[in-house]
Amino acid sequence: MSTSLPWLGSVEQRLIRMRQQGRLPTGLLLQGALGTGAEPLAGFVAQLALCRADAPACGVCRDCRMVEALQHPDFTWVRPLEDSKVIRVEQIRELTEALVLTAHAAGVSVAVLNPADAMNANAANALLKTLEEPRAGVTLVLVSAAPSRLPATILSRCQRLRVPTPTRAQALAWLAAQKPSADWGEVLDVLGNAPLLALDIDPAELRRVREESLAALMQARRGQLDLSATAEGWARGEHFELRLTCIENWLTTRIEDWAVDGRQTQPVQANAHLPDPGLDVNIVLLLRLLDMVYELKALRSTAINRGLALEQLLWQLVPRASRAAA
Ligand SMILES: [Zn+2]
Repeated sequence: MSTSLPWLGSVEQRLIRMRQQGRLPTGLLLQGALGTGAEPLAGFVAQLALCRADAPACGVCRDCRMVEALQHPDFTWVRPLEDSKVIRVEQIRELTEALVLTAHAAGVSVAVLNPADAMNANAANALLKTLEEPRAGVTLVLVSAAPSRLPATILSRCQRLRVPTPTRAQALAWLAAQKPSADWGEVLDVLGNAPLLALDIDPAELRRVREESLAALMQARRGQLDLSATAEGWARGEHFELRLTCIENWLTTRIEDWAVDGRQTQPVQANAHLPDPGLDVNIVLLLRLLDMVYELKALRSTAINRGLALEQLLWQLVPRASRAAA
């Protein structure tokens, strides 16, 4: 059995060889962009470690099926608790205690931490002990799209495995096989080659959010946007991440235009009927705003804080003359 994600074939083969040679490490960091398959790959590693068939991970034995159903006694999946974006120290303590106490299947135990960079400092410290004094047969799979946010002490104890990003053709082919009716090209234009993320989203809804977000950015540039109401609405809404991605794309397009021509060029497509006001948005500001978007994406915080940060970002787009008038 495998993840059934064709672009992960070679990395699966590599993991199978590691298992056959008894080289599955205590700490394994799966590093890959969101929506490219790191999660299913982590499940595959768990099957690989716990399956006792001649060719693990067979996918059909009791162990493999229990891993898949998240019911295997020696397999734990740790993620942020509901309503929280953080993996807390209590969760890690519970995990490490379980790792000490239980070893049903020949002493093999697997835990997946996803996303591992959601561990707060105390949680990371608690995990470090297990990584430093590993019990034989324990495999901790850390999944992260942003491993630089993990403490260096954790990183240095993990073997890093890069999860490949599919090509656009691979992503389109896979998506078409899952759901042939949708226009996946447009979705990937917004999300990048992240097919698992794409499959979770309604393409029509994505288009609506994208157009609405771009229209708001243009309004901001004209000094016509109610910044605080917009920011608060976006921060509390269900599409916060998607809106940030739309802002990110808008900024990147402009930065690319600047790099090619040394100047601002096309107004965004969704607003082609409106003239681009061509305001004082320069490359320094664009790069600063892009940084703000990345920080906002990393921010594990309340809707109120997100709203304030987003308002600050949108405010930077407002022309100076309108700021003075406001
Ligand atoms: Zn099996």
